[in-house]
Amino acid sequence: MSEVLTRPVSEQVASSAHISASKYDEMYRQSVEQPQAFWTEQANSFLQWDKPFTQVVEEDLNRGHCAWFADGQLNVTVNCIDRHLPQRANQTAIIWEGDDPADSETITYQQLSDEVNRLANALRERGIKKGDRVCIYMPMIPQAAYAMLACARVGAVHSVVFGGFSPDALNNRILDSDCTLVITADEGVRGGRTIPLKQNVDKALATCPNVHSVLVVKRTGGDIGWHADRDIWYHELVDKQSTECAPESMGAEDPLFILYTSGSTGKPKGVLHTTGGYLLMAAMSFKYTFDYKEGDIFWCTADVGWVTGHSYIVYGPLANGAVTLMFEGVPTYPDASRCWQVIDKHQVNTFYTAPTAIRALMGMGDHHVTNSDRSSLKLLGSVGEPINPEAWEWYYSVVGDGRCPIVDTWWQTETGAHMITPLPGAHNLKPGCATKPFFGVQPVLLDEKGEEIEGAGEGALAMKASWPSMIRSVYGDHQRMVDTYFSTFKGYYFTGDGARRDADGDYWITGRIDDVLNVSGHRLGTAEIESAIVLHPATAEAAVVGYPHDIKGQGIYCYVMLKEGFEPSEELRKELIAMCNTEIGPIAKPDVIQWAPGLPKTRSGKIMRRILRKIACNELDNLGDTSTLADPSVVDTLIEHRANK
Ligand code: ATP
Ligand code: MG
Repeated sequence: MSEVLTRPVSEQVASSAHISASKYDEMYRQSVEQPQAFWTEQANSFLQWDKPFTQVVEEDLNRGHCAWFADGQLNVTVNCIDRHLPQRANQTAIIWEGDDPADSETITYQQLSDEVNRLANALRERGIKKGDRVCIYMPMIPQAAYAMLACARVGAVHSVVFGGFSPDALNNRILDSDCTLVITADEGVRGGRTIPLKQNVDKALATCPNVHSVLVVKRTGGDIGWHADRDIWYHELVDKQSTECAPESMGAEDPLFILYTSGSTGKPKGVLHTTGGYLLMAAMSFKYTFDYKEGDIFWCTADVGWVTGHSYIVYGPLANGAVTLMFEGVPTYPDASRCWQVIDKHQVNTFYTAPTAIRALMGMGDHHVTNSDRSSLKLLGSVGEPINPEAWEWYYSVVGDGRCPIVDTWWQTETGAHMITPLPGAHNLKPGCATKPFFGVQPVLLDEKGEEIEGAGEGALAMKASWPSMIRSVYGDHQRMVDTYFSTFKGYYFTGDGARRDADGDYWITGRIDDVLNVSGHRLGTAEIESAIVLHPATAEAAVVGYPHDIKGQGIYCYVMLKEGFEPSEELRKELIAMCNTEIGPIAKPDVIQWAPGLPKTRSGKIMRRILRKIACNELDNLGDTSTLADPSVVDTLIEHRANK
């Protein structure tokens, strides 16, 4: 296998970072050996409590139970807004960058406070109280953040549904979490096109009798339908409200939000997070993983419809009094240099995005990047899927000019915050490696018998203790949570992912455990083979799945997307097979390569391998839950051109 090119911690970064290597060791040790003392100190330094907690943690992973700071009380918006006002009233809280490069806006902490309180009062006027569920179906505009925070102010539980979802998907989620109020916009704007959000809401609500109010933000002024008994213009209701609104004092274990997972491995789960533990981990990981310093400008490109947007556009940055950039558009509009132009325009210091975006931009040519300055950048981040070393190197050397550490953050909707990630001042970087556990996180690798693997090795990634922002329930189906995460391995939280631990104790995520191949008795992760294939200059993306093979047990089936300007050929096929041979070994040589014009992805940009597996295995009559598929036509094309008929 090819050498791993380690990037040691830069001395310059280490000398000014919050967490150096020795500090990490000391804090990590304390976090697992004396969790009571460690978490008491962190929870009191990161958060302001209305009523102090006396209990830290109580847990029983056998039944998936944990409670953190349970007798403490706090309000999330007091922590994200009110307590900053004495020093930061006039400091920017949110920079909004519109879809059109000519549109941007800044919102100060005082303005944020006024907007959130007005909307919170409006929610109360519409009868919303502690514990009620509110659905937020919004474009990436500041009102999306106001809506989340206004819910938190009055103790309502928000359920943000990504604005790209269909009326059906929205309907399912509204019913599943029994929302009674929906906040939306007339239309969204993305990549120069409008999205009929209000129209989608109207369709979705046809079978949701419990929704009594729909607040509509006027984003475009486009034509929309109107139900006078239910619909209210956001501005008409909000503008007349007071900018003072008493925050609801919440128990640390009171629910903060429900959020549906991406649906990569099956029907999305409505993950429930609570108030104290979630906010603490979001705040703490934001500060330490991104080595956030006063005044830094932080840009996370996720949508607020995903957990990344919750923790690293809204809650983590605002809890730290930071400046967070919110982007309405897409990385390729008006052209593929948009991200870098936005970085220059707003002097962004930290840029956090997903491998799917990095791979796409990489395929479009370096000139889109190199014609920008990017000298404000200090740190880069990746999240969502394993990042192939090839893409990592490009991100590092072209986007970051070889100056900026990359934090490859492994975590899940269910974990609420980063779990395994380098801290830039503490950990050596290895392309494609998520490196070390965050404070208090205790990963283990389990073999098939459920035994912990010691030292270097590979297995199922699980956690042997709870952490403050652990999932508390799957909304409305607590048993599903117990079955999914706490039953496969008794006494552990099972992530569903596989990982390898190297001789340095660094963790490499190998992909979903269900996707691991067993080829002639050898276990192979999908990430490894895909990374070898995308090393070839002609390939843009690859997805690998197993299919039944008479001799090997499982054969390797690769879907390969080529970069613009390259054509499939027998010669290229041979080169790709040879690539896997030299990079990994003869065992990893693909049996089938199917040229794919596109890959099926979730709305959050992840490859849905379970559908590709069905196509490879010729099980076409039941493709499973496809509700979160971004573009169903991709699947039809792949079926039509199946390579092993
Ligand atoms: P579902 O749970 O509905 O199947 P999902 O797992 O894709 O969907 P998310 O919570 O959005 O839903 O994604 C979490 C998963 O994303 C992780 O379990 C992991 O497989 C992958 N992931 C996230 N970050 C990384 C990373 N840095 N490296 C490797 N994989 C990652
Ligand atoms: Mg998952």
